[in-house]
Amino acid sequence: MGFEITNKDFNKILESLKDEYKIYAPKRFYKRGRFSDTDLIRYDEIKTIEEIEYKEKSQYSPKEVIYPITQTLFYFNEDEFKESTVSEKKILIFLRSCDINGMRRLDTIFLENGPYKDVYYQRLREKVKFVLIECSESFDNCFCVSMNSNKADNYDIGIRFEDNKVTCEVKDDELKKIFEAFGDKVEFELDYVKENKFKVEVPNKDDLSVEFFNNKVWEEYSKRCIACGRCNTVCMTCSCFTTQDIAYEENPSSGERRRVWAGCHIDKFTNMAGGHEFRKDYGSRMRFKTMHKIYDYNKRFGENMCVGCGRCDDQCPQYISFAQCINKVSETLKKGEATNE
Ligand code: SF4
Ligand code: SF4
Repeated sequence: MGFEITNKDFNKILESLKDEYKIYAPKRFYKRGRFSDTDLIRYDEIKTIEEIEYKEKSQYSPKEVIYPITQTLFYFNEDEFKESTVSEKKILIFLRSCDINGMRRLDTIFLENGPYKDVYYQRLREKVKFVLIECSESFDNCFCVSMNSNKADNYDIGIRFEDNKVTCEVKDDELKKIFEAFGDKVEFELDYVKENKFKVEVPNKDDLSVEFFNNKVWEEYSKRCIACGRCNTVCMTCSCFTTQDIAYEENPSSGERRRVWAGCHIDKFTNMAGGHEFRKDYGSRMRFKTMHKIYDYNKRFGENMCVGCGRCDDQCPQYISFAQCINKVSETLKKGEATNE
């Protein structure tokens, strides 16, 4: 059972939600893209359905809504510190099934990866409700089917966009009351992508071994990758950050601690006290990312970290394909070439 709602009435629903919710969706920023005269599609607050860019894939993922690029954790002076605060409002995020599956990976990293929960993530995450955007067909570079993330069931609203109307399945009881006031009841079931143009064969994690770390397959990436980190920043499931203490100019003994996204491809990411740097060459960074996404995360938590959104492949300026890289690992293992010897 679902509701069919005109865009005009859907805007009334958004209007009625705005006092209680911050509403985020993929939004087009004109002429803000990577090349001149291109647009950027990223997540931002929206007020009307017309602002939602649902026909194209967003370049950035929705993770920045609950895990911002820069986030103040606390303020300090010489004697005390004060934790930062967040808005009281609940959060509604329009996102696709790969990204809902990606959120589960972030939940695992921030909330289940050790004895302590990340309170800065948790305080935003517990406010979130998901609006699943139906994907009727696959975008370029998507390989969600290979990564089992083409479907999701942990959403509060499922939505199909058409030019002048939407059809919604509403699971959340509070939200259902609002939708009943505006929509006509119809039979409705969300569709999902059943096949991508590009298929990825993820290697069996039991076939991977430490020896594979020395395989020549990684050498290509030392030559091609430029360590720009774009693949990390657009990734739905990359969760690494660094921290910065910012001292205020007018009183350097007070300031704030922020966390800022970082990534395994970026220079100095592995720098340590004493001048140690563990992954200097760029191929070893590609190896680290690949192994994390399809091997060691899976070994610990029982599913691959990568959800196949394809954003890393969309954005790499060197046309390095992470999807092709996974296939290369599988092919190399099939040929029995774990090492170079
Ligand atoms: S590694 Fe690439 S395809 Fe996989 S989740 Fe990250 S951005 Fe998406
Ligand atoms: S986007 Fe491409 S070039 Fe940039 S760090 Fe990632 S793999 Fe390397």
